[in-house]
This record gives sequence, structure tokens and C-alpha cells, in this order.
Amino acid sequence: MKQEMIFQPIFPSWVASGTRPFIISGPCSAETRDQVLATARQLAGTGVVDVLRAGIWKPRTRPGHFEGAGEEGLAWLMEAKTETGLPVATEVATSRHVELCLKAGVDVLWVGARTTVNPFSVQEIADALRGTDVPVLVKNPVNPDLELWIGALERLNKAGITRLAAIHRGFSAFEKGPFRNAPLWDLAIDLKTRLPELPLICDPSHICGARDLIPFIAQKALDLDMAGLMIESHIHPEAAWSDAKQQVTPLALRTLVNGLVKRQPEIKRAEGENILNQLREQIDRLDDEIMQRLADRMKISRRIGTFKKENNITILQVSRWEEILHTRLAVGLAMGLAEGFSRDLLKLIHQESIRVQEEVMNPAGPAGKTG
Ligand code: PEP
Ligand code: MN
Repeated sequence: MKQEMIFQPIFPSWVASGTRPFIISGPCSAETRDQVLATARQLAGTGVVDVLRAGIWKPRTRPGHFEGAGEEGLAWLMEAKTETGLPVATEVATSRHVELCLKAGVDVLWVGARTTVNPFSVQEIADALRGTDVPVLVKNPVNPDLELWIGALERLNKAGITRLAAIHRGFSAFEKGPFRNAPLWDLAIDLKTRLPELPLICDPSHICGARDLIPFIAQKALDLDMAGLMIESHIHPEAAWSDAKQQVTPLALRTLVNGLVKRQPEIKRAEGENILNQLREQIDRLDDEIMQRLADRMKISRRIGTFKKENNITILQVSRWEEILHTRLAVGLAMGLAEGFSRDLLKLIHQESIRVQEEVMNPAGPAGKTG
């Protein structure tokens, strides 16, 4: 039978963070003592970091890459804690990791996306934690399965861990989109709806896979009322031994965090403004979807362009265009869209699709240059 979960704040300061979100930051991996300490010092200096993170055991997709400093790295992390006063967090995937972290005095543990997928591993971690009250953050599983995510939280909660939070780090997708891991915001919203007491943190680094996209995802997470952010940072991000593209310098982190707008909780707002905000959030989400869908459509146009080139077929085929216009206009009309608007929009999309195909056919031509 399903039981209610009981949650307690991760830290007393969790709710009181006020003007800015709760920030967990630090390198993807602890690489060397100097790197951990230098990053930690700079992060502490920013004044915007609440918890220092660093991976000690790294789950790598392919063998032959840096798999973490291991136990030695734990000592560096604890030294960083002593020096900066920041609580420290690391990833655990086995009972051995848990034992070593508990022995060392690591403040916060997190379960990685590749571990959340495996109930055996999660149970092993939960059993190793029984009798403690260490805060645990559970990343979403790599596959978009809400039940698996909730199941992992339940296993830990049943073992007596009540200081829990979830981390939304995006999901693997077969079709590569603009992000390393598809955000699938609806899944995060579903979790928040199912477990409203559970703090939800966003990890824009692992969603984006590219540092330039981080501010956009971070703001979006805050606008969905997420409680905090986990952002990877490194003294020399480009030289990082793992996830180099998605880490920022401590200085860039400060700029990023200070640039975020933390909106008031809806409850405090006037009723009318509340409704407006909710509607705007829906619009934002839909616009993002529209842009992503358009980008997907253009990718297919590009593939059609390649096919046409290989088979010596003209780009424009009037009958196909007429068919598109005719069928889509009818659908638009049935859905209540004004005919003129649908016609203009379809023409614009068609023009761009032709331009994209021209670019494929003739990369040196004007379409290739102006694109
Ligand atoms: C990490 O935080 O560095 C990590 C490995 O994350 P994830 O489990 O989300 O891939
Ligand atoms: Mn990482």
C-alpha cells in the first residue's frame, strides 16, 4: 500500500533564502586538491553559494574517461568545507560511497540520474543510510519516468531519510534537441504537483550541456517556482576533466545568479496579477514548444534537401505546397485560427523551408551565405 511521505527542510535556511534561489555549485568532478580548494575559495567569495558540490566518483557513459578522484577527493572536499565554512555535497552510487561519505562527514549526498533508474542501487543506498538524517537529493532518472523518480524518493523516505529534495536535470532523448538533456518541464511540474512539500531544484548545467544556455533554463526554473539551482562551476571550465562545456567560472556564476529574477510566491500577489502570471507562464511554455517544434521541422527540411539533392529532384513542388496549404488551413480553421494568420504563418514556414533546402543544395549560394 502507498504511504504518505514525510519531508523535513534540508537546511533551516532553505525557505528563508528570500531574494535569491538556494544555490549548490562547484565542479563536476574533484580533480586535484588545488582545483577543489581554489574553486571553493572563489565560490565562497561570491556570496551567492549555499552548498559546495564536487563529484568524487564519476559515472561516465564510456570507459576510458576520468572516473573521479575517489576517496582521496573526499579529503579535499572536507578541507574546502573547513576553509570556507560551506556545507559540501557529493554523489553516491553504492553503499561503499555512502559509508565513506558518512565517515568523512559530507553534509549532503545526491543520487545521480544513472543510479535513480536502478531500484537495486537506490535500495542499497537507502539501506546504507538507515539510522542517519543526512540530506539526500535525488536526481531524476535519465529516462522520463516519474514513477521511478518518486520510487527512489520513497525508498529513501522508508529508510528514515526525511531531509529530501529532488533535482530536475533533464532526460535523455533519442532526437537530439538544443539541450543535452530534454527538460520536459511537464514532468517536473507533475512531480511538484504530486509532492508539493518536496523541494525541487533545477540543474541547468546538465540540462543545457552548454554554459551559454544556462541563464535561460535557470530563469525558467525559477519561474516555475523551483526552490534552488545546482550549477557546475570550475576555476578553468574549458580545462575541466568532465563536463567542460557546461561549467562556468565562480565569477560568471555570481553574475548569472544576480541576473536572475526571483519572483514573489504567488500567494503574496494580488489575485488578478496571479492569474496573469499563470497565463503568461503557459504562454512562455507554449512559445518555447513552438520554437522547438519549428527547429525540428527545419531539421527535417534539411534532410529532405539532402534527399532531393542526391536524387536530382527540384526543391519546389507546387502540388505538395498546395496540399500543405490546403490541409493546414482547414485544420487551423477548425481550431479557430483566423485564415489570414494561418496563411501568413504557413507561407513564412514554407519560405524558410525552401531556403534551408537551397542551403543544402548549394552551400556556396546566397541561402548558404545569408542563413
Ligand atoms: C553530476 O552532477 O555531475 C552528474 C553526473 O549528474 P547526472 O547524474 O545528472 O548526470
Ligand atoms: Mn557533471
